[in-house]
Amino acid sequence: MFIDSHAHIDGPEFDADREAVIKRAQAAGVSTILNVGTGDPHSGAFERAVELGRQHASIYTAIGTHPHDARLYDAAAEKKIKLLISSDHVIAWGEIGLDFHYDNSPRDVQAEVFKRQLRAARECDLPVIIHTREAESETIDILQSEYARAERRGIFHCFSGSMDLAQKAVSIGFMISFSGIVTFKKADELRAIAKQVPLERLLIETDCPYLTPVPHRGKRNEPAYVVEVARCLAALHGIEIEAMAEVTGENFRRFFRL
Ligand SMILES: [Zn+2]
Ligand SMILES: [Zn+2]
Repeated sequence: MFIDSHAHIDGPEFDADREAVIKRAQAAGVSTILNVGTGDPHSGAFERAVELGRQHASIYTAIGTHPHDARLYDAAAEKKIKLLISSDHVIAWGEIGLDFHYDNSPRDVQAEVFKRQLRAARECDLPVIIHTREAESETIDILQSEYARAERRGIFHCFSGSMDLAQKAVSIGFMISFSGIVTFKKADELRAIAKQVPLERLLIETDCPYLTPVPHRGKRNEPAYVVEVARCLAALHGIEIEAMAEVTGENFRRFFRL
């Protein structure tokens, strides 16, 4: 059975057929989905994600303020997240981090809010889900100063960084999750990195509705397609797809203490 360790199925893209999407995932052998609630922390987006998790035994939940929305994070947002994570199916704080590609929030605000959320996650004894884009050294510096002594570490989700970042992430005890990007025709460099990541640190995800893997390109992405990410990683590591499902599933359960 496969585990999609990062999906966004609570959003409007799935309003028309969410239950069918969840059924298709199960039919494809995807036993578990970690749904990640993002958006304006004051909009009700986190409540929506938590409610979806409450309704489905196969769905775990993460909530946190995405770097895009860092400018909207304040004490009230932090209080709300802390309250919502008391639900037992909320297993991570995220996604949080730095995105210097889109710069939807000012960089200094992103860095400050990233640190605040790392501290809050530590207080709550929750692992974190890291989103980082075009901000590798800044991300690692903050993690080394804020999270080096944390007992619960985190996941670099939708990994698309350098070999250097992958090695540093592994050395500070983080997991690395690959999305459909690793199946893309032009992703040879990323595949070379994925091949080097130790099996016990690997996770698979869709990050749906975005980043649809080959051979489903052009369609909306959904958790059932995480099988294609597993297939690609299995080939890179020279093991059967069933073994990759087993390893990444075991990694997920061990990491989240499920
Ligand atoms: Zn992300
Ligand atoms: Zn995401």
